[in-house]
Amino acid sequence: MNLFYLISAICFILGLKRLSHPKTARSGNFLAALGMLIAIAATLASSNVLDLKLIAIGVGIGSVIGLLFATRVQMTEMPQMVAIFNGLGGAASAFVASSEFFKVNDLGIIICISVFIGTLTFSGSFIAFGKLQGIISGRAITFSGQQILNALMFASIVALGSVQQLGILPDSTIFYVIVLLALLLGIGLTIPIGGADMPVVISLLNSYSGIAAAATGFLINNQALIISGSLVGASGLILTNIMCKGMNRSLANVIFGAVGAESSSGGSSDGKEMNIKSYSTTEAAMILDAAEKIIIVPGYGLAVAQAQHVAREVADTLEAQGKKVLYAIHPVAGRMPGHMNVLLAEANVSYDVLKDLDEINPEFEDCDVALILGANDVVNPAARHDQSSPIYGMPILNVDKSRTVIINKRSMNPGFAGVQNELFGYDNSIMVFGDAKDMLNDLLKEVKEL
Ligand code: NDP
Repeated sequence: MNLFYLISAICFILGLKRLSHPKTARSGNFLAALGMLIAIAATLASSNVLDLKLIAIGVGIGSVIGLLFATRVQMTEMPQMVAIFNGLGGAASAFVASSEFFKVNDLGIIICISVFIGTLTFSGSFIAFGKLQGIISGRAITFSGQQILNALMFASIVALGSVQQLGILPDSTIFYVIVLLALLLGIGLTIPIGGADMPVVISLLNSYSGIAAAATGFLINNQALIISGSLVGASGLILTNIMCKGMNRSLANVIFGAVGAESSSGGSSDGKEMNIKSYSTTEAAMILDAAEKIIIVPGYGLAVAQAQHVAREVADTLEAQGKKVLYAIHPVAGRMPGHMNVLLAEANVSYDVLKDLDEINPEFEDCDVALILGANDVVNPAARHDQSSPIYGMPILNVDKSRTVIINKRSMNPGFAGVQNELFGYDNSIMVFGDAKDMLNDLLKEVKEL
C-alpha cells in the first residue's frame, strides 16, 4: 500500500509544481486529483472494516455536490467556494478525530490538536465565506478587549489539552469545551480581519485545513493524509507569505491589525473635492489612436462584467494597428490569487504579454495610455504615500506615471478596501463610466473605425 501512497505523493508534488503556471495549471490540477484518487482507492482496498456501500453513497453525494459547485460557480465567487471547501476540510478532520475519541474513549493530545485546528478552520472559514458573500459585513468587526478574549480562549484550549492526561476533568468535558472554544476562536480570529486583508485569511485558513488533516493522518496512521495535509499546510503558508508581501504587511499585522474597520480612516482623498473628467468612448478611442504603447490593467470589475474576451479583442485590434499592448497583473487584483491570470488565459491572451507587478511598473514611465478596467485598490497611489489609508504600504501598479490614465468603472463607488481613489482626480486621469463589457464593446467599434 505504501507504494501507492508514494505514487500519490509524487502526483501531489508534481501537480503543485504544475499549478504554479497558468499554462500547466490544468494538467497540474488533474495530476493532483489523480493522486488523491489513487490514495483513496489504496486506503479502501487495504481496509476491511469499512462499509463499502456507505462509502459509495458518500462518494456519490460528494461528487454530485462538487460537480454542481464547480460548474455553477462564477469566477468572482471562487474565493467563497475555496473558503467553504477549507471549512469542510477542517470539519472532516475534526469529525474523524472525534470519531476516534468516541471509539477509544481516551482523549490523546493528537485528538485535541486535530479537533481544535479542524473546528477552528471550520468556523473561521464560514465567517470568511459570509464576509466575501456579503452575508455579514466585509469590513473588520472589532470591539475592545477582543484580542485579550482571543488570547484567553487560546490559552484555555492549550491548558485543557495539557491537563487531559492528569485526569482532573473527565475527557468528555475537555473534548466538548475544546470544540466550543475552537468554534468561538475561529469566529473571533476572523471577524476582526476585513477589507484588503481577506485574501491572506483565505490562504491562511487553507493552510490550517492542511495542518488539521495532517494531524488526523497521524491519529489514524494514514501516510497519504499526513503527506497531503502537510503539502496543503505548507503551500497555504507559502501563499499566505506571498499575499502578505503583495500587500507589504506582516502576518501579525494582518491578523491583529484590523484593517478595514468601520472606524478606520478612509484615506486622504475622502471628503476632498476631486476634479473628475468624464469622457465618452469616442473620446477614449481618439486618445488610444494617438498612443503607441498601451498597458491594460484588469481588476475585479472586469471579472464581474466578464469582459475579458472583448478586452482581448480591443487589444488585438490595437496591436493590428501597430501599437504595443501589455497587461499589468497585480498579485491581489480581483478576489483571489491568480484571478486575473486565469481570466485572461481563458480569453486566450498570450502569456508573453501578461506582466506582473515588478516587471510592469518600470514600463508605465514611457507608456502613453494605462487603460484601467474595473480595477481600483490596486492602482490607488495613496498606498504609496498616505499613512492614514488602510491600504498604505500595499505595492500598487504605478499607472499614474503614464501620460494618460483611462479608468473604466460604473460609478465613483470605492473598491474592496472601501476607500476613495485619489487617482481619479489626477490631471492625467480621465473616467469612462459604464459596465466594463458594454464600454469595451462600444470602444471596440470605435477603435475598429480608426
Ligand atoms: P477593487 O475591488 O478595488 O475595485 C473593483 C472596481 O470595479 C470597483 O471600484 C467597481 O466600481 C468596479 N466595478 C464593479 N463592477 C464593474 C463592472 N461591471 N464594470 C466596470 N467596473 C466595475 O478591485 P481591484 O481588482 O483593484 O482590487 C482587488 C481588491 O480586492 C484589493 O483590495 C484586494 O486586496 C482585494 N482582495 C483580493 C483578493 C485576491 O486574492 N486577489 C481576495 C480578496 C480581496 P463601480 O462599482 O463604480 O463600478
